[in-house]
Amino acid sequence: MQTVTKEKTYKNFINNEWVESLSQETIKSISPANKEEVVGYVQNSTKADLEEAVQAADQAKKEWRKLGQAQRGQLLFKTANIIEENLDDIAETMTREMGKTLPEAKGETARGVAILRYYAGEGMRTDGDVIPSSDKDALMFTRRVPLGVVGVITPWNFPVAIPIWKIAPALVYGNTVVFKPATESAVTAAKVVACFAEAGFPKGVLNFITGSGSIIGQSLIDHPLLNAITFTGSEGVGAVVAKSAAERGIKFQLEMGGKNPVIVTKDADIDAAVEAVISGGLRSTGQKCTASSRVIIETEVYDSFKEKLVQEVKKITVGNGLNEETWMGPCASESQYNTVLEYIQKGQEEGASLILGGEKLTGEEFDKGFYITPAIFDDVSSDMAIAQEEIFGPVIALIKAENLEEAIQIANDTKYGLSASIFTTKIGSLLEFIDEIEAGLVRVNAESAGVELQAPFGGMKASSTGSREQGQAAKEFYTAIKTVFIKG
Ligand code: NAP
Ligand code: MG
Repeated sequence: MQTVTKEKTYKNFINNEWVESLSQETIKSISPANKEEVVGYVQNSTKADLEEAVQAADQAKKEWRKLGQAQRGQLLFKTANIIEENLDDIAETMTREMGKTLPEAKGETARGVAILRYYAGEGMRTDGDVIPSSDKDALMFTRRVPLGVVGVITPWNFPVAIPIWKIAPALVYGNTVVFKPATESAVTAAKVVACFAEAGFPKGVLNFITGSGSIIGQSLIDHPLLNAITFTGSEGVGAVVAKSAAERGIKFQLEMGGKNPVIVTKDADIDAAVEAVISGGLRSTGQKCTASSRVIIETEVYDSFKEKLVQEVKKITVGNGLNEETWMGPCASESQYNTVLEYIQKGQEEGASLILGGEKLTGEEFDKGFYITPAIFDDVSSDMAIAQEEIFGPVIALIKAENLEEAIQIANDTKYGLSASIFTTKIGSLLEFIDEIEAGLVRVNAESAGVELQAPFGGMKASSTGSREQGQAAKEFYTAIKTVFIKG
């Protein structure tokens, strides 16, 4: 197979040089489609490597913030073009490394390009307000200034888009960056960083370091020279990040899990709702933080929705994401695969009925990968673990509700509040939903998993620290405000 020739060792990028870790050790990244396939090796970095990366970012911050914002934006435009030129290779690497299908990986990489261009344009946009002073002889205005060194820690499920939606605004607003990707998708991340490297940023502006979360990630968040930390990942690690940042009084931002509901009312377009639940719940093998994992359906249409959903999910082809006929790839890792299987078992033990899928796929090409057929649970009640905990896999729980009020109450009955969707044709129902739902992303007659790069993104409750990413919202996090008062 072609894969053997593509195995390669990727280095850290520190102070504009590709360097090996002082440990002289590497970590193997394998494909979830075939665990014998090595996608590449990344550095198993030490705390001393991390120290160099943070020092480099700290030394670069003074010159970088002095450079005009438009010039910083130009470098992002250049990076966007380089990623676009390498889109096929980056997307294929992503599919091989974490399993999502090639069209999804290409779509995500193209999204990364678009995000870079959006923030590149920030170089030419307004960066403050003029505010009338109570003194008629004075001029008062605000200016946005960079924070300094920003730590970026990302998960494996969007290995291109999430790093870019953090790094691009961090850089354009004048910060320098130390980026630690998820180990599971570090080869893909290295390829993205190579595009930034080729664009020619000054030394130390963007530094990239791979290695264990508990060693490198932890040392990064604890580092005294860090001025801010942006994190996307699990709640458990998020709590560790928050504690460390709060102790030192630095700015932090956490985007974490979800248990996203879709409400289907009795007047909904059932076909459209089924399509959205399949796309929102099972694309990327259900491994999106915005994935639909609970469908709350009004009694009158429960059976018709369920039948149609089962009929459509049966058509889904599971396989290697590189194959054209594959609709859904494997789980991204062995631990993810085991977690999903455990929840499928738990759901049955709790008394829900598994009416479709949830099986390991075996035979030929499947034996070496982490393949599961999409699972649908019927008769789920809101207190069950499969209705409360984030599974991060292709598992959909169907829950019955007597009316809209009860549906919304069930939808809100979790600790999470990232995304939520409703399918209805009644204005009164959708307005009530918009008002009552506890979610940062509110979607009407659309799947729960859609995100637009120019709009704020983030959750409520345990899903987030309440800050928002993307669009103009990113500016709030990556800058500090100076209020300037000039007496004439
Ligand atoms: P994770 O285990 O929390 O890992 C996230 C990142 O944190 C990885 O880079 C990891 O490095 C690092 N890390 C681990 N321990 C650390 C520590 N003690 N200190 C600092 N960093 C540490 O999450 P994941 O499994 O990669 O991602 C899945 C989770 O992300 C899900 O809960 C999902 O909902 C969430 N997610 C949220 C959003 C959103 O925007 N709300 C988007 C996507 C995903 P290693 O890989 O080396 O362990
Ligand atoms: Mg992998």
